[in-house]
Parts: sequence; C-alpha cells; structure tokens
Amino acid sequence: MILTADWLWPEAGHALEDGGVRIVDGTIAAVGRRPDLTPLAEAGEEVRHLEGACLLPGLINAHTHLELAALGPERPVAHDFVGWLLGLVEQKRRLEAGEAARAAAAAVATLVATGTTGVGDIASIDIAQAPLLASGMRVRLDIELLALDPARADLALGRLADRFQAVGMAHPDPPLTLGVSAHAPYTLSDRLWERLGAWHRGHPAPLTVHMAESRAEVALLAHGNGPLAEAFFPAVGWGDLPLPTGPSPLDPLTRHGLLEGALLIHGCHLTAAEMARVAAAGAALCHCPRSNAYLGQPPPPVARWLALGISVGLGTDSLASCPSLDLWEELAFAYLWHRTTPEPLTAEQLLAMATAGSARCLGWQRVAGALTPGRAADVIAVEVEGGPLARLPERLLFDRGRLRLAMVAGSAVAGTDVP
Ligand SMILES: [Zn+2]
Repeated sequence: MILTADWLWPEAGHALEDGGVRIVDGTIAAVGRRPDLTPLAEAGEEVRHLEGACLLPGLINAHTHLELAALGPERPVAHDFVGWLLGLVEQKRRLEAGEAARAAAAAVATLVATGTTGVGDIASIDIAQAPLLASGMRVRLDIELLALDPARADLALGRLADRFQAVGMAHPDPPLTLGVSAHAPYTLSDRLWERLGAWHRGHPAPLTVHMAESRAEVALLAHGNGPLAEAFFPAVGWGDLPLPTGPSPLDPLTRHGLLEGALLIHGCHLTAAEMARVAAAGAALCHCPRSNAYLGQPPPPVARWLALGISVGLGTDSLASCPSLDLWEELAFAYLWHRTTPEPLTAEQLLAMATAGSARCLGWQRVAGALTPGRAADVIAVEVEGGPLARLPERLLFDRGRLRLAMVAGSAVAGTDVP
C-alpha cells in the first residue's frame, strides 16, 4: 500500500510536503515525496492520498494506569503529593471491580480514538489486559510490585513471578511486551529490592519505576522524614516498618543492578548528579506534565535531560492525576508549561518525545516511534490546516485536527477514513 498526504512528519527534522510511505506486510518499505513513491506501486497495490492531512508516527503514551480510569470523575483534589496519595488509597479501596473494568475499557477506546497506537500500562490487577489486546494497539504491560513490609518481600516477589509467567505464556508474541513495575523507591522494602534484583538476573524483563516524583519522596530517602514518613505511612498501617534507604531515590536500583536500561517515570526532583547517573546507566525518563502540574510540581528540566542524551518519552499517567488520556492535550499543555521555564521545549521536541522518545522508553526503538524503512507501519493521519512547513509541529499541536486514520503494523485501528 502507498499512503500519502499533503504533509508528512516521519520523525524530527524530516518533515515534507506532499509525502508518504509505502507499506509492505505491515512494515514501512519506503518514505518520501509522493512523486517518488507512486511509481513504486505494483499491479493491484492500493494507492491512497489523504488530502488536508498529515501523516506521522502513531503517538505512544509511555505511562498510564488504565485500572485507575474509574477514579477520573472523583480524582483526589489535594494538590500536594501526599494528600493526593492518601485520597488515591482511599478511593482505590472503594472501587468496585466491574466499574473499574468498564472505565478501563472506555479509557482504551479513548486512547485509540485520539491517535495513540502504543501504550505502556501499569497493572496491579488484570482488568485492562483484555481491552488493551483487543484494541490492536502495541502494548507494554508492566506487572506491579509493591510491599514495604520486609516480611512480605518473598510473598510479593513470588506473586510477581507467577503473574509474569502466566501473562507471558498467554501472550508470548508482540504486540504485547511484558515488563515489571517496581512501584517506587518509597513503597518497596530494601529486602524486596534485593529479591527483585536476584530474580531480574534470571528474568531480564524491562523495568519501570516511579522516580523522584515529589519532594516528599526525596526527603524520605535522604533524611527518613517528611510527610510520607509522618503522615502517609501511619495512615496506611506502615508506620512501624523500617524506612526505605537512599540517600538518593536511585540508590535502591543501583544497589541491585536494576538502574541499567530502566524506565523512570517523572524524575521531577532528580539532582544534576542523579541526572548524570541516569544518563550513564542508559535509563530512560517518561515525562508526565499534566500529572506533575496537578500534584503541584514545577516543570522538570526536560531540556537538560535531552541535552544529556537521556531518552525522554511522554505519558499522561492515570486519570487519577490527569484530566484526560489524550496525548494531543498533553503535548499542547507541555508546550505552554515549559514556556514558563528558562529552557522551553519546541513543538518538534515534544512530538519527538511522544513518538520516538516514548518508543525508546518502552523498548520499541527498532519497531515503532518513527516512519522509517524497516519499522512497523504504526501510522496516523491527522487533519491539519495549510501553513508553513517549518511550523508543522506547532500546527499539529494547536490546530488539533480530526483523526483520519490510525494503523498499527499496517492494520487500521481507528479514524474516520478507515475503509
Ligand atoms: Zn504512574
């Protein structure tokens, strides 16, 4: 199939007018201008041009928790991290399984309808798996591990290993990539980190960790005090447990060989020395701007992360801390939010984060995130107004046109122009 449009944004720095892709067996075979592509068509090969649209890689939401989608309407309002976390724990307790499953399925539908073709989801329970796999999206599912009580470390790790094996056996092939989410430096005991490190040496699955999300987390790991130790742990019955140890929130990972290649979510409060450690370990960072802003965090220095060569992706986080799962809304917010800082991000940098950057976060750098020969045809076509080619990324972010087509590995999954 040869698919062309008035505009093409295959990856950062390569935008074209009147361009497209040739797709063979679900893979990008060629990229270029329409006059160069159309003569490649073989007898019977479909040739389509989408007028008034731009073709680009499908957006990839590198971090969300679909199982929390039901909390959207009653999202905790406290805008300090620990107040929000206490609200979340309370609301999760009241959540009814059927309601959670319905909301997760609706959230999956929103992702697909807004041009997201790949998603990294954290699963502490298994309610989102079925709608995710039925959606046709590329999926990275991270099974969650969380236990601060050292006496529960073996049990928690045993459960993780069992779930990992069961889901892996049920879905051995792409588009599902299976990983582990070690929730955060403040919710795993030192003993559990040690057990996870030992397990991981035999099962080198991709690892995700919420990292340096709040000042409360930094204070806890560095000094053993602050609102996590003084308010949160007593409220959830963890008040008598040994505190996790840092001093850096990266230290539990480093101690057990888990930082190398890990996906770190948020990273809002990493110091310059910690950013250098992240870069040296080849770990990736997922930026979740609306969630950070909702929890009262300032914009993190994403331009510095990029300058250090860190792979940076974009995620919405869950509906418990973000008003939608629409990555276009995330992009527009991020662009404006970072303009309040000394180091704003360009629309092109942000689009690159939501495509190639998120792909690297999820381990898909060879298969998705850019329209280049050899990668899967995870392509979207979005309506866009006319205008200068140099401003195409801004137009994509702010004109916010209709989704005409979304494909994963060459198969249509959404859009108004799906045949
Ligand atoms: Zn999260």
